[in-house]
Amino acid sequence: MLAEGQRAEATIDLAALRGNLAALRERVVSADLMAVVKADAYGHGALPCALEALAAGVGWLGVATPEEALALRAAGIAPEQARILCWLWTPGGPWAQALRAGVDISVSGQWALDELLAAVRVTGVPARVHLKADTGLGRNGAQPHDWPDLVDAALRAQAAGLLTVVGLWSHFAAADEPGHPSIQAQQDAFATALAYAERAGVRPEVRHLANSPATLLLPGAHYDLVRTGLAMYGLSPVPQVGAPADFGLRPVMSLRARLALVKQVPGGHGVSYGHHYVTAGETTLGLVPIGYADGVPRHASGTAPVQIAGKWRTVAGRVAMDQFVVDLGGDTPPVGEEVLLFGNGERGEPTAEDWGRACGTISYEIVTRIGARVPRRYLGASGALR
Ligand SMILES: *Cc1c(COP(=O)(O)O)cnc(C)c1O
Repeated sequence: MLAEGQRAEATIDLAALRGNLAALRERVVSADLMAVVKADAYGHGALPCALEALAAGVGWLGVATPEEALALRAAGIAPEQARILCWLWTPGGPWAQALRAGVDISVSGQWALDELLAAVRVTGVPARVHLKADTGLGRNGAQPHDWPDLVDAALRAQAAGLLTVVGLWSHFAAADEPGHPSIQAQQDAFATALAYAERAGVRPEVRHLANSPATLLLPGAHYDLVRTGLAMYGLSPVPQVGAPADFGLRPVMSLRARLALVKQVPGGHGVSYGHHYVTAGETTLGLVPIGYADGVPRHASGTAPVQIAGKWRTVAGRVAMDQFVVDLGGDTPPVGEEVLLFGNGERGEPTAEDWGRACGTISYEIVTRIGARVPRRYLGASGALR
């Protein structure tokens, strides 16, 4: 249920989040979990999700940008409570602040090592570094021909007391496509990169490669730590292989709005910008006060499902900045009736997976793009850390 007076809201089921972490832990026997809380925890709220993960015994948090890591530290997550790794640095980044905040730092190339070492010299704080290898994704990470130089340079800095290489890591390109030839190739390339670094004298605390799909499908890729994002939020990273329930997961986010108007219209009435929907006959329309400024994709126009009073309806015509319309087929639910855009599916409502499919995207994008104008309401907080 929407909170009283609310136009729209995303509810975040923290009990489901804890259940998902427990299900993942059961699957990952020999490795630790890293809760990936980048991008405001995929739209779920970085701080509340991070606190629940810590309360559930997770010791690692993963974020993309140093600003995300610093925000978690500023909010009170202390270095003794959680290691935080951030992996997307740009020149001139807040290296010194990250060192002082006890943030683990990913290094993919010499330029980053140079900037990091300059900050270590200024602050006097030695760095904890995770060296990243590009094993085939073609994104961040050192190419195989640059890896030995990067490892050797890091080891020289380690010998000088400036840093410790605590991690060796990489990231999959297609772990969500079982049998994709890149999967084995990347595992082999990772093993080669590890072997070089270990021969050179690196004694990593953690070697890590697996994201959510690899965590669910590739136990041989778990190493010492798995970095789970989507699965923790209860969505399946491999919908063609299994639904969330098949992996013991439950979707954490539900998105609701409240009907702002219900009215009778004649047949042949155009609906929303461009009149891409025209009523087939006399009918009723419902106005849903949430639009692309809230993160409802414009690609949902004419295609995505919602549930109103138990029935599925389809977005009629274009999604506008702040609102969209559904054809209620003559039904007259009261103004204020709840519109369930997506939820965990347990009440027969659409899911973020349904929205992803309808919009030609993935559930990752559906939940992550829900905007700041939509208030989050947290249910089932353990309260263990507050
Ligand atoms: C986002 C991200 C993850 C988490 O991916 P999921 O598929 O959501 O589990 C892991 N590692 C890196 C480097 C990432 O960027």
